[in-house]
Amino acid sequence: MASRFVVLGLLIATCSLALASDPSSLQDFCVADPSGPVMVNGFACKDPKAAQATDFFFAGLHMSGNTSNPVGSKVTPVTVAQIPGLNTFGISLARIDFAPWGINPPHTHPRATEILIVIEGSLEVGFITSNPENRLITKVLQKGDVFVFPVNLVHFQRSAGYGNAVAIVALSSQNPGVITIANAVFGSNPAIANDILAKSFQTDTKTIDWIQSKF
Ligand code: MN
Repeated sequence: MASRFVVLGLLIATCSLALASDPSSLQDFCVADPSGPVMVNGFACKDPKAAQATDFFFAGLHMSGNTSNPVGSKVTPVTVAQIPGLNTFGISLARIDFAPWGINPPHTHPRATEILIVIEGSLEVGFITSNPENRLITKVLQKGDVFVFPVNLVHFQRSAGYGNAVAIVALSSQNPGVITIANAVFGSNPAIANDILAKSFQTDTKTIDWIQSKF
């Protein structure tokens, strides 16, 4: 009986550590010190007395990204890598530019939910629910429309018009991370064996070699 209470106590103690978000701040800010010798989850703080306005600042999001690439889109991230003052705050931004019919290919963010606003043009967007349903939830957005991509789910955007499109996205992590499906699967280093991919995608190794050569 006593041991049952011990087990229950341990369970409660363990559950209380399972946080659904970053822990709340214990100080005003923790400006990242990427060169600091201490390895922590995130970055160590630099001396708060040395913090400057530039630690909380980024310039240039008014400028278009260069979309002259095979997918016709460009993501300009504004994460803790660009703004050290974002460290520990669980939030970041990005600007996404699209050429006409350009796509931001299917990808996931392992650490963030994404909320997007169209500020120019129109976008066809979507995400896919997890196995076994794999349901595609999709919508065409116009300027001013907002859409949410739940954390971890595969999602994409495509310029749905003949003009350029621009979106601003906010992400619920200082370092959301990105896994672009095609790049991860067909462009890994070293490559996944082509017979593994051939069977996975129910095709032949020649087709896999051809796709891998694109990445
Ligand atoms: Mn995204």
